[in-house]
Amino acid sequence: MQTASELRDLLARIDRRGYPAYKETRGMYRFPDYLLSIDHVQGDPFAAPSRLSIRVSGAKAGFPPSLYRLPCQRVALQDALTRRFGALTAKASFQAKGSGHSGLIGVSRCGQQVLERTACTLDPDSGELTMRLEVGFPANGRTINARELEKILFDLLPGCVRGALLYASLDAGQLRAVADLAEDQQAIRQALPELGLCAFVADGSILPRASGVSDLPMKGAVPFRTPPERKVELTLPHRGKLTGMGIPRGVTLIVGGGYHGKSTLLRALELGVYNHIAGDGREYVITDDTAVKVRAEDGRSICNTDISLFIRNLPNGKDTVHFTTQDASGSTSQAANVVEAMEAGSRLLLMDEDTSATNFMVRDELMQRVIRRDKEPITPFLERVRELYERFGVSTILVAGSSGAFFRVADHIIQMDNYVPREITRLAKEEAARDPDRRDKPEPADPPRFDRSPMPSPEFRKGERVKLKTMGRDGVSLNRESVDLRAVEQLTDAEQTAALGYSLLYAQRCLMDGKKSVRQLAGELERLLEQRGLAALCESPGNIAALARPRKQEILACLNRYRGLRV
Ligand code: ADP
Ligand code: MG
Repeated sequence: MQTASELRDLLARIDRRGYPAYKETRGMYRFPDYLLSIDHVQGDPFAAPSRLSIRVSGAKAGFPPSLYRLPCQRVALQDALTRRFGALTAKASFQAKGSGHSGLIGVSRCGQQVLERTACTLDPDSGELTMRLEVGFPANGRTINARELEKILFDLLPGCVRGALLYASLDAGQLRAVADLAEDQQAIRQALPELGLCAFVADGSILPRASGVSDLPMKGAVPFRTPPERKVELTLPHRGKLTGMGIPRGVTLIVGGGYHGKSTLLRALELGVYNHIAGDGREYVITDDTAVKVRAEDGRSICNTDISLFIRNLPNGKDTVHFTTQDASGSTSQAANVVEAMEAGSRLLLMDEDTSATNFMVRDELMQRVIRRDKEPITPFLERVRELYERFGVSTILVAGSSGAFFRVADHIIQMDNYVPREITRLAKEEAARDPDRRDKPEPADPPRFDRSPMPSPEFRKGERVKLKTMGRDGVSLNRESVDLRAVEQLTDAEQTAALGYSLLYAQRCLMDGKKSVRQLAGELERLLEQRGLAALCESPGNIAALARPRKQEILACLNRYRGLRV
């Protein structure tokens, strides 16, 4: 541990030397309010910026433990501090000048969801706060400009820390509201199973977003209004009484004309597995947090997945209990996505006909009469959806605007009408009953098997250099083998995707042994994140990447899409 003035002296010494001399700054320095740790120094001004962390002791930070009594409150507080610190550093960024990334001060950008991140961690026992950030060490060309780094470390950053990380300088009421909202959201989540619900949408929620590229709430949107038959009243610890629509477990259909808001409701439910920040409009849209959005995904890799629940007797004789392909069709990919959601312990499937394979979803009676069952490998989802619920406890919420076939198998039917939901179960069921049901029923299926156990690949042995790259939110690659995650629609942040890349590597290096199943691997990764935090995924404790926590469902989705999986 060195003092801040020793750092100042060091900077004076290396000023105007070649850029690599910056490496000497690595280490820990005591500043008046905090410890500054220079964890990783970039190789040149154009490379990825240097990584720093700031540690404020519990006594100095001064956050009252009542703000982070519950884990969900701690995550919400960390999120709020990251946003505040990010706003202040954004103003300070590039005030110091130079070539390449010189002067950049970067902090994880948070979207509308509240996620656990390596960016900020608050130790629940000591109250110690750690904030991680990136700084572009300034240079002119490739010559160190230490005066500018001095400006960042001694003028700009201390101001950001004082303005964002010390309780005394923050708005206490606002922080209390953050903690209270998190507790209320958790109360709704915990109430769902007791009420037999798989989702809740509060009256007044704003579901649509400003645009296809903005996750902010739409201005002037029609607020959500619960149909009287579906009204549920909750009493939350802080907000008190809150009414909204409860979606019961079972099979729920969302129908309605085109453009009436069906997909928008489903999208809000998909993201209801996360908590949202105040002002988002979806603060009280809470979905069973094991829910998985399932869609068709042509071209995905499927590795030894049991899709026999939906597909068997392929004309080429291909085994569908151990189904493998490098290039799945619409229907096989959607079948695998359903089964893998079950593998991930999902209790709720979310589907939209807009993104489904038609032949996976339904086969109408006329087609059934012309093409006999023994000539059709696919048992459509329509014929399995009740079994999924009754035998496997997996509910479904399905948007189906074009096929009435699902009326017969649904427990609840909601019509979206000019963005307002109406309860039409009775009406639709009566209409369906007028139509004689001539379909023959499929045989009950064997429960899918989840026992594939991958071997680790030698290229990832400890000590081997591995290239891990993230393509934004959409994918990761390990040594050039890329995993396409675009169809994993509940991933909401590029830092989650990065965490999936690290999880995959961790599983290769430390967990896979040819005996543990993919499901067990995902379970062990989930436990690791729960017990030791996201930083445990990074090999060097001194160089922690910017990661956000993915759910077990996404961890499994990533493992299952990895083309290098050796099973
Ligand atoms: P559907 O799936 O029924 O065809 P969408 O959910 O795609 O309809 O919605 C159609 C359009 O209406 C979208 O542009 C969406 O942003 C907008 N929209 C959805 N819900 C609302 C609402 N509550 N208020 C205003 N506009 C909305
Ligand atoms: Mg739609």
